[in-house]
Amino acid sequence: MMRIGLTGGIGSGKSTVARRLRERGAVVVDADQVAREIVAPGSAGLRAVQERFGAGVVGPDGSLDRAALGAVVFGDERSRRELEEITHPLIAARTAELMDGAGDDAIIVHDVPLLVEKHLGPAYHLVVVVDAPTEDRVRRLVEQRGMSEADARARMEHQVSDEQRRAAADVLLDNTGTEDDLVASVDRLWEDRLVPFEHNLRGRVRARRPDVPTLVDYDETWPQQAQRLIERICRGMGELVPEIEHIGSTAVPGLAGKDVIDLQIGVADLHDADAPEFVERLEALGFPRSAGNTMDNVKDEVPDPSMWVKRFHGSCDPGRVVHVHVRETEGAGWQYALLYRDWLRADEQARADYLAEKQRLAATCATTSEYAEAKEPWFNHIWPRMQAWARHSGWHS
Ligand code: ADP
Repeated sequence: MMRIGLTGGIGSGKSTVARRLRERGAVVVDADQVAREIVAPGSAGLRAVQERFGAGVVGPDGSLDRAALGAVVFGDERSRRELEEITHPLIAARTAELMDGAGDDAIIVHDVPLLVEKHLGPAYHLVVVVDAPTEDRVRRLVEQRGMSEADARARMEHQVSDEQRRAAADVLLDNTGTEDDLVASVDRLWEDRLVPFEHNLRGRVRARRPDVPTLVDYDETWPQQAQRLIERICRGMGELVPEIEHIGSTAVPGLAGKDVIDLQIGVADLHDADAPEFVERLEALGFPRSAGNTMDNVKDEVPDPSMWVKRFHGSCDPGRVVHVHVRETEGAGWQYALLYRDWLRADEQARADYLAEKQRLAATCATTSEYAEAKEPWFNHIWPRMQAWARHSGWHS
């Protein structure tokens, strides 16, 4: 089951996106609607709220009087917490019920206005943010929803900034064009990314990608992307992942590279990474294990092959290539990846030399595996230089 988090500032077009995704076959769970449902007339939730806050919070028609309740909890931290202690478990249970009932092959879209404010991003396989400039949003709310301009602006002030919301987005849907443009971009997202992602997730297979070594310029968002992936993995794996690091070219500011986010998970012993729970949980998060890739190339300076063992998981998401290397923290492979990254970050000449080597090989190698193989002599060649830097700088992992 794939879970997408959908959010956007008020008036951004989030409901329009949710509607289109539902039309395409997604199961949309609307957080606002669930929050209303659990305190609907006659519900256990409403009874609990009434018991705690008095008969005055229920109107003559038996429904929750939101204004009256708001007046009671407004500015009163303790009351607000008590209200949340009643509502949050009910919301969580109802949300889980709706999601669990959706079926194993469902693409669930959780429509959550305050997803970023509440730091919920790591709970999803993918976060989709609908983005539109403030002035467009105000105009749409006034013209199409009949809101007053002051009300629209006041509501926006209570939400995170567009920049913070963008930083949480795996997918940014730009809604500066027409509503038809927005619908068309939802359709593309659905067909090109969400449907194949779900298919891969269920089949526990990595996304297919062109087997050609293509270098791209450094992308300023790579560290943010890696951080989102790390948070997702940490939330889903808990104590099974004692250490995790962003490594590889995308972890070196300014360096061009293949558009692949490399992460390494550090475990005490690779047996931990072979445990069914470890493998299954990482697969359910969207990172199926690859049967091959159980060794890093042995470097001349540390010839013992047992120091270079690893496990490898790749991403199901056709929109984002991710390699997850699982290594023993006492092994040479773990240390090497960290030292190499830190040396490149620190040494401009090292970056320039490595880039030249990558460009030379990318131009001559036809496939990614050929390219990876051809890079090996370089890694042996720079070993003494890198070690000298480590000694000189006092580096340790
Ligand atoms: P949200 O759910 O993010 O608050 P909506 O999807 O309800 O936003 O959109 C706000 C209003 O703007 C709606 O009336 C919607 O039909 C309209 N709208 C959405 N996208 C566009 C667009 N690109 N151009 C014009 N109007 C739009």
